[in-house]
Amino acid sequence: MRHPSAFAALCVGTLALCGVAPAYADTSGGGGATYVATPKIKKVVCLRKCASKGRAQAGSTIVLKGTAFTGANEVNFHGSYGESDDASVRVRSGSDRRVLARVPVGAISGPISIATGDGVSSPLSRPVAILPPPPPEPNTELSPVPGVSAMETGTSRTKAYVGARKAVTFSFRLSGATPASLSVELVRASDGTAVRTWAPEGVVPGEVNSVSWDGRLGKSAARAGRYSFRLTTASADGSRATSAQTGEIQRDAFDLYDHIFPVRGRHDFGGANADFGSGRSGHSHQGHDVFAKCGVPLVAARGGRVQYAGYHGAAGNYMVIDGAGTSVDYAYMHMVSPSPFRAGDRVYTGQRIGEVGETGNAVGCHLHFEMWGAPGWYEGGDPFDPLPSLRAWDGWS
Ligand SMILES: [Zn+2]
Repeated sequence: MRHPSAFAALCVGTLALCGVAPAYADTSGGGGATYVATPKIKKVVCLRKCASKGRAQAGSTIVLKGTAFTGANEVNFHGSYGESDDASVRVRSGSDRRVLARVPVGAISGPISIATGDGVSSPLSRPVAILPPPPPEPNTELSPVPGVSAMETGTSRTKAYVGARKAVTFSFRLSGATPASLSVELVRASDGTAVRTWAPEGVVPGEVNSVSWDGRLGKSAARAGRYSFRLTTASADGSRATSAQTGEIQRDAFDLYDHIFPVRGRHDFGGANADFGSGRSGHSHQGHDVFAKCGVPLVAARGGRVQYAGYHGAAGNYMVIDGAGTSVDYAYMHMVSPSPFRAGDRVYTGQRIGEVGETGNAVGCHLHFEMWGAPGWYEGGDPFDPLPSLRAWDGWS
């Protein structure tokens, strides 16, 4: 269970996608199955525009070395747990053993795979470290748009979390003539798509206007990654002005993350005994222990509904949150005091839920943290190793 969801995602449906070698794909459209070798990634190195120490970041060119790459046309970056942080990029096949790929904005550390046009995907590679792109430039006060004299814009934050209470707010002020039309677009950096558009009415030059976004697209949580706001005006004579050019990923931009690291203070991930699966009397450890001083604030890594809050002789004060928009339940144990929440309460991502403690069967102050896959915590799901996710969240929050 190194990477359960990505593996599950690859293994839904056809055998050919399950990385079972050799795979067969019907390419003839009417004849028998044609043998297609399963590509396999053996090594990934950063070639160009790398971050420090040759590590990859968004925009870097990486080299995949392996076998059976002929026909490969897509590289998938699986990130941490779940599909919401996955990213992919189209590639031109290089040779059977070597392919170049550009790391897309939004790709985060984790295993990668390569897929052919026939729908055959390689097994997951070893995790590849991908440093985040340079953060967006903070622009929390209105500032003039370079080269556009009649426009000022600002964005309230450069980091946002899915399911958080605080929305991202984009503000703008125009000067000069009243525009004939005006729109604000939310642009996803990974592919340049405007995923949301607002058309504020009654905009008067000289006044500050704003739109807010809560991290949702329709009823679903948006994919993690970089987004930016783009204001476009058109005057009566048809001339247009825009606050950001295509490909802009800095101005009025922010990064949307799907989780926040739950321990909000100095911490460490403990020794082998802290690991998922390590031995306990009569059972194995179902979570990972994160050590921090007692009293360090704990926040919900992902918001949702409180499934359970109470006291248990081993777990101490603990609570379980059914993560909104995920198939995961999150358990927090050994908290100093009983949770202020009750089953059924809504909790936002990043909302304080308690403090690190050592209640119950705990040696030293720590958070015992569990993640359970569908259908959930003691509802038929199974716990899985949360450490890769914890490390990823710790990297950005
Ligand atoms: Zn533990």
